[in-house]
Amino acid sequence: MIIYVSGKLSIPFDQFQRYEDFVARIPTIEEKLKQNSIKSTLPDAAPTNLHWVLPQYVTEAVEEFLNHLSLLSEDLINGDTLLHAPVWELCWDRVQAEEGLRTNVPGFYVAGDAIGWARGIIQAATTGIVIARDILNGKKPSDKELTSTV
Ligand SMILES: Cc1cc2nc3c(=O)[nH]c(=O)nc-3n(C[C@H](O)[C@H](O)[C@H](O)COP(=O)(O)OP(=O)(O)OC[C@H]3O[C@@H](n4cnc5c(N)ncnc54)[C@H](O)[C@@H]3O)c2cc1C
Repeated sequence: MIIYVSGKLSIPFDQFQRYEDFVARIPTIEEKLKQNSIKSTLPDAAPTNLHWVLPQYVTEAVEEFLNHLSLLSEDLINGDTLLHAPVWELCWDRVQAEEGLRTNVPGFYVAGDAIGWARGIIQAATTGIVIARDILNGKKPSDKELTSTV
């Protein structure tokens, strides 16, 4: 389970805590992890107390959310579940695109995460619709236009 936190942070981000420890507000220690049924797959991640790492309003919101989640099914979360936080999101270069998300290469569009403007499922799906509409409404690039940029 990954907790997204945005904003500027000056702390190491590969940290995690057992859910049971998180609720009890005690640090997860290496000794306890040896018996934990779930292992972290992040090689550099270090056990911690996420209450030391995240602001209180975040830990409270996460706890409330996980409480609700655990009511949906007993299999979704248990004491051994590992909470990793925070996730570091980096944005890359932005691709220049015109209306309809056309690039300067005829017939070549850019969509979803690749644009570099925003990341998210809705944004990715929306860009797909924008491109589909542009293709349906627009004129196809000529063979000459297509081959001249390859
Ligand atoms: C851990 C995590 C949690 C997230 N949670 C959320 C969330 O809660 N809400 C939200 O809105 N967004 C979330 N996102 C972001 C969201 O998943 C992305 O913004 C979205 O999936 C982008 O869609 P996309 O189609 O641009 O790219 P992708 O979904 O990454 O699709 C790209 C596809 O291209 C394939 N591919 C790559 N290279 C090649 C190649 N050479 N040949 C053929 N295929 C290739 C890949 O296998 C992949 O299937 C999360 C992302 C991560 C990593």
